[in-house]
Amino acid sequence: MPNDAGQTRILLEDEALRDGLQMEARIFSLEEKRHLFDLLEKAGIPRIQVGSFVHPKIVPQMADTDDLIRTIGKETDTVVSALILNDKGLERALSCGVPHVSMSVSVSDTHSRKNARKSAGDALAGMVTLIEEALTSHMTVRAGLQCVFGCVYEGAISQTAVLSAAEALANTGVTEINLADTTGMATPLAIQEMVRLFADEFPEIVVSLHLHDTRGLGLANMFAGYEAGVRIFDVCTGGLGGCPFVKGAAGNVPTEDAVNMFEGMGIKTGIDLIALAEAITVLETTLERRLPGRMKRVLEFQQTCG
Ligand SMILES: [Zn+2]
Repeated sequence: MPNDAGQTRILLEDEALRDGLQMEARIFSLEEKRHLFDLLEKAGIPRIQVGSFVHPKIVPQMADTDDLIRTIGKETDTVVSALILNDKGLERALSCGVPHVSMSVSVSDTHSRKNARKSAGDALAGMVTLIEEALTSHMTVRAGLQCVFGCVYEGAISQTAVLSAAEALANTGVTEINLADTTGMATPLAIQEMVRLFADEFPEIVVSLHLHDTRGLGLANMFAGYEAGVRIFDVCTGGLGGCPFVKGAAGNVPTEDAVNMFEGMGIKTGIDLIALAEAITVLETTLERRLPGRMKRVLEFQQTCG
């Protein structure tokens, strides 16, 4: 999406409040989450996934997603989004009035059976129905596929399986489909191949990427996606997060490192790194540990040298 000055702009969706906090043993209070949201909003993050509607017994960290969305309300320029994985989730999303949702299924049958307790085929069919309901209710829906670039249980995932699941999602009328490297198994070339195949098959759909940095290829995969035409990426402030199904998994590419890479190449993100560092400080202080993102350290060093 080139802007008026002919420069390119990208959209980063921050996942720290969902993909990040869901992995933490310490449960953040509603006030703490709201404070983090405010800091991320102030830093200029255009889209924030603030939580998910999953069973509070299974993921207690996300139990107050509805309340958080209600406290944020509609007085924000940031797009507030949440993750829906089942019919109960859609019900809750409709009731708290979240304007934007992600609705995703796994393309790996084993991962789907373990995570959603359904075969990949059944999960996809169920999600198609739910997406149609959400669209009828005038929600903006981003459909998504998990484990697109490999599965810890099944190894490689066939591109045909990915494209066929994507077709079912595309037929619902969604305008964006997110391809997730849930396990961090993608390589830059695999990203480019999949994005190009996808664009040939579904030219009317916007592709976004959700890249876990488990094997240290997050930024390389992100740039490969950018070169293949992707302009929307999920990121996670501080690089918080992991994956309950992948031992040793890292979070999404740290937001601050993605901002540094793109801005350094003249590609606008609209995100202020200094303001974002404040959110990372809050996370690191609350969690009493350093987070993996690099740019916060660089900024601290510059200030010390200043
Ligand atoms: Zn993830």
